[in-house]
Amino acid sequence: MHILMVSAECAPVAKVGGLADVVFGLSRELEIRGNDVQIILPKYDCMRYDHVWGLHITYRDLWVPWHVGAIRCDVWFGFVHGRKCFFIEPHSEDRFFERGQYYGFHDDAERFAFFSKAALEFMLKDNRRPDVIHCHDWQTGLVPVLLYELYQHSGMTNQRVCYTVHNFKHQGVTGEHILYAAGLPNPHQLFQPNRLQDDDNHAAVNLMKGGTVYSNFVTTVSPQHAQEVMHTDQGHGLGHILNVHQGKFGGILNGLDYDVWNPVIDELIPAQYSANAVEKKYDNKAALCDRLLLRKEYKPIIAYVGRLDAQKGVHLIRHGLHYALANDAQFVMLGSSPDPDIDREFRHLKHHFNDNPDCHLEIGFNEELAHLIYAGADMIIMPSMFEPCGLTQLIALKYGTVPIVRAVGGLVDTVFDKDYSGRPEEQRNGYVFHQTDETGLESAMHRAIGLWRHHSDDFRKLMVQGMQCDYSWARPAQDYLNIYNYIRDL
Ligand code: ADP
Repeated sequence: MHILMVSAECAPVAKVGGLADVVFGLSRELEIRGNDVQIILPKYDCMRYDHVWGLHITYRDLWVPWHVGAIRCDVWFGFVHGRKCFFIEPHSEDRFFERGQYYGFHDDAERFAFFSKAALEFMLKDNRRPDVIHCHDWQTGLVPVLLYELYQHSGMTNQRVCYTVHNFKHQGVTGEHILYAAGLPNPHQLFQPNRLQDDDNHAAVNLMKGGTVYSNFVTTVSPQHAQEVMHTDQGHGLGHILNVHQGKFGGILNGLDYDVWNPVIDELIPAQYSANAVEKKYDNKAALCDRLLLRKEYKPIIAYVGRLDAQKGVHLIRHGLHYALANDAQFVMLGSSPDPDIDREFRHLKHHFNDNPDCHLEIGFNEELAHLIYAGADMIIMPSMFEPCGLTQLIALKYGTVPIVRAVGGLVDTVFDKDYSGRPEEQRNGYVFHQTDETGLESAMHRAIGLWRHHSDDFRKLMVQGMQCDYSWARPAQDYLNIYNYIRDL
């Protein structure tokens, strides 16, 4: 099968969060199963060009209609660790992808609406006719709309679209002008409650809603989250339209790329280890202490790795830090935030704990340090307010780092409480709490620290059970292939 991914991110070349990991990992697994997979991305100036091999222009002077004129683009091709990637480079005064960062601009909706349009224009002009176009998140919500309203009339009649929502919080809510800019026929007909009109702001267009309505199948990234977005406020206003289209909507748990995230072969950590030789993990703990200038004492290291966003429960991350230090544990954090208030708060905390030998806060994005933290820490906290799937806990499990998580979204589907899960004891792999206030996190951390300190054999057993969980791409890739096959026959 010929599958074309259209995405704003792909690890490790253009990565902000889990979306990037999913696009890379799923593509790789689909290829292993004999499918032809290509990925279309914007050509950002801030990409990690050191992860692209053989980059060259493959299509010159692709004129993409936009507003009343057209923007000239070049399309580049290169391999990203074996994945076949096209990069769209527009040449215009807007400099859509030459901004030094991926997101955070007033015209983000326009930037990615243009990218969606350019991706289809490239398929059309370069005679690419994939069986399935798989697009991701709000940035590419316009792809199925353009396909069915415009491009199928130019010969793209057999293409089908699978649309995966990784995060319902960001939906690409923008002005009606975007429909005109993209050259969609009869924009006023699209600007209706059953099409692209936003349910909350009736004067606005919602790109994610468009993707949901027009795609042949819509997925989100865990079964639990699929229920949450249909039946709670976690759909951020899209609950109604998801219920209308529930016959083509479901949750597929993300996989983890065990070629990248695997302590047995991880070259970014000083000591490789497996579930059978877990004591070698402690060499990484020592290396982590050296690297972050933590004192080496008989204390558990509790970590947080991830974006510092309200979604991730920043108030509980901060509380976890204080609770760890007050309970004879060490705390390590790696994270960053585009939000100036959150950024300031954590820089202030970093300053405050600068000389504390039991604590290190690293503000920024650092892939290599992330690997060392997963390998060196004893536990990781994920006190998310919502969590569509979460990769951090899957990585932690693989590295024998016991996850302490809030019972929400994909965390419910992947972490099973040591003491209270209804699952058989040998399937339990972490600690789970429910409340959004401090009490739940405290009691889960208390139980985890207690087991580490007083029942180290049981703690080690819990670590190993986590390492033995299989959250590879094997099963989810098959689930996606089943969907692709289903929509191809529609
Ligand atoms: P989200 O997609 O909401 O950001 P996930 O848990 O699904 O959260 O995925 C987060 C991914 O991004 C993980 O691979 C995590 O290790 C990585 N990550 C997040 N923040 C950082 C950071 N500051 N430095 C390095 N890696 C990070």
